[in-house]
Amino acid sequence: MSTPANLPLSIVIPVYNEELNLPTLFARLYPVLDALGRRYEIIFTNDGSADRSIELLRAQYAARPDVTRVIDFNANYGQHMAIMAAFERVRGDIIVTLDADLQNPPEEIPKLLEKMDAGHDYVGGYRLNRQDSFFRTKASKIINFVREKTTSIEMTDQGCMLRAYSRAVIDAIVRSGAINTFIPALAYSFAGNPAEVGVKHEERHAGVSNYSFYSLIRLNFDLITGFSIAPLQYFTMFAMACCAGSGLFVFVLAIRRVFFDYTAAEGLFTLFGVLFFLMSVALFGIGLIGEYVGRTYQVVRARQRYHVKEMLETK
Ligand code: UDP
Ligand code: MG
Repeated sequence: MSTPANLPLSIVIPVYNEELNLPTLFARLYPVLDALGRRYEIIFTNDGSADRSIELLRAQYAARPDVTRVIDFNANYGQHMAIMAAFERVRGDIIVTLDADLQNPPEEIPKLLEKMDAGHDYVGGYRLNRQDSFFRTKASKIINFVREKTTSIEMTDQGCMLRAYSRAVIDAIVRSGAINTFIPALAYSFAGNPAEVGVKHEERHAGVSNYSFYSLIRLNFDLITGFSIAPLQYFTMFAMACCAGSGLFVFVLAIRRVFFDYTAAEGLFTLFGVLFFLMSVALFGIGLIGEYVGRTYQVVRARQRYHVKEMLETK
């Protein structure tokens, strides 16, 4: 499915409603890459933007058709799908992903390349002085912790999209045909010699984050359930412990009722408490199983994951 490599470097950038950032991004990114002295291509995926992003991308393609390619989606499929579409088409030996909002300064790209040249097949950036809201930063600390406990992925900063991948890792990602997936973690699972470097992080240049609270929860659920079935196993263990505990409790209540206090009625509320607790556990479990069933469904259905309306590229 993927194209053979015939370039040293590909840059992959998902774009969703970034009209305010694109001009600055172009102005900063192209000079950095031109200065590298390697042949390169930049693939922008327009992820169904509702603003003028696609016009700006068209203009940029007209200005630099030698190094610019644009994938235009017909609708919004999300950041990771946008990156996947580009991965399926990249021609580079080294592939670098970058956000369009300039939170990852393009000036940091050479740092990643240096590590790649040193023989690593995957270089993850981690954000020094992260410039996100208190809530985002804290929440991602927690998720990092959960991920460390449930999967074997070791990463300082899973949320940083400034990363470099070798061709082999990208090919493995494309072949795996994973859905909805968390690319940095997936890449890590295929990498043989991963490394990390600290990169600067800036505030979003303009506009607001495209991630709502809801989509962040979705993304993180994907991250956990997409890489391990540990949650299911933990859940089963927990359910077993609950069963044992409540069984014992019922036993104690029965003994008390029969042998000691024939009129006891105050246990009713305890019983309610236990019941509600167990009910919520059961509901959570059903939801958890649903996550996996949902993923299975999506894979089994094997529907095309995105639709490209138009490709702007010079062959
Ligand atoms: N993005 C995308 N599709 C989406 C949401 C975001 O292609 O549905 C792109 C967006 O244009 C940016 C990158 O993904 O280049 C990161 O998005 P954002 O800055 O909103 O996320 P945050 O930095 O808040 O995690
Ligand atoms: Mg951002």
